[in-house]
Amino acid sequence: KLKQPRLPSWLKTDIPVGQNFTRIKKDLRGLKLHTVCEEARCPNIGDCWGGGEHQTATATIMLMGDECTRGCRFCSVKTNRTPKPLDPHEPEHTAEAIRRWGLDYVVLTSVDRDDLADGGSDHFADTIRRIKQKAPHIYVECLTGDFGGSLESVTSVAQSGLDVYAHNIETVEALTPYVRDRRANFRQSLRVLEQAKKARPDLITKTSIMLGCGETDEEVQHALEELRKVDVDCVTLGQYMRPTKRHMKVHEYVSPEKFDMWHKKGMSMGFKYVASGPLVRSSYKAGEFYISNILK
Ligand code: SF4
Ligand code: SF4
Repeated sequence: KLKQPRLPSWLKTDIPVGQNFTRIKKDLRGLKLHTVCEEARCPNIGDCWGGGEHQTATATIMLMGDECTRGCRFCSVKTNRTPKPLDPHEPEHTAEAIRRWGLDYVVLTSVDRDDLADGGSDHFADTIRRIKQKAPHIYVECLTGDFGGSLESVTSVAQSGLDVYAHNIETVEALTPYVRDRRANFRQSLRVLEQAKKARPDLITKTSIMLGCGETDEEVQHALEELRKVDVDCVTLGQYMRPTKRHMKVHEYVSPEKFDMWHKKGMSMGFKYVASGPLVRSSYKAGEFYISNILK
């Protein structure tokens, strides 16, 4: 049986606090928005909300409730086959809150809603359109599920006016059945990313891979090659961290040097940017990276 390796020093962090961070936290109070940043107690919150060199504050907001119809082995979100119906006012309320908030870059994500006919794609698209109407200067990234493979749903989100379309493959092809819910599938995820680009060729596409689940270097290399084949622009690689003892074990804590190696490798393969490091998450400093690598 696999023993859980010890937490290495590079993963022990203090959450840094800056001026921007304090302001956003205060603003959030009245807005009733749920950020993944706070709920997942993400260790990057100081970096993301702080804004970095370009003062680009990023936050991740969760739409469509907090219960997912799927159950991936790495994820701490609650599973429920019949989650609450969607709140029809959520798109408007979210857009209004974001407008007042003064953020520069927002990531909208959600649980998977296999119970809805369109997987929630109209809800996503509606929210994006309303944000862009009220606050056209805010960059919007969507991190969606696979919509059960519905290319129509992907197209509807891709054409709603957003700037970055993200969908995470999460792991290498060989480990997908072990790591992700059985309804997810590596090829299906590639098709989602491919379709987003086809639906709007100037859209930036992005994905994320967790390392430390037992994948080999060859398998990571293969995943990166497959992503380039469907013209994915950006990739982030981070360490898998086990949320609770009921979740999949960490196979290995990948060294910072290995993450650097993947950064160089990915950049040489033609990705527009590769964020790679133990603490990197899908939306890690997404705004900062967007401004300095895509808009430059
Ligand atoms: Fe929020 Fe994502 Fe940044 Fe974590 S990495 S603080 S969840 S935007
Ligand atoms: Fe978590 Fe997403 Fe998997 Fe649902 S589909 S269990 S939210 S990773």
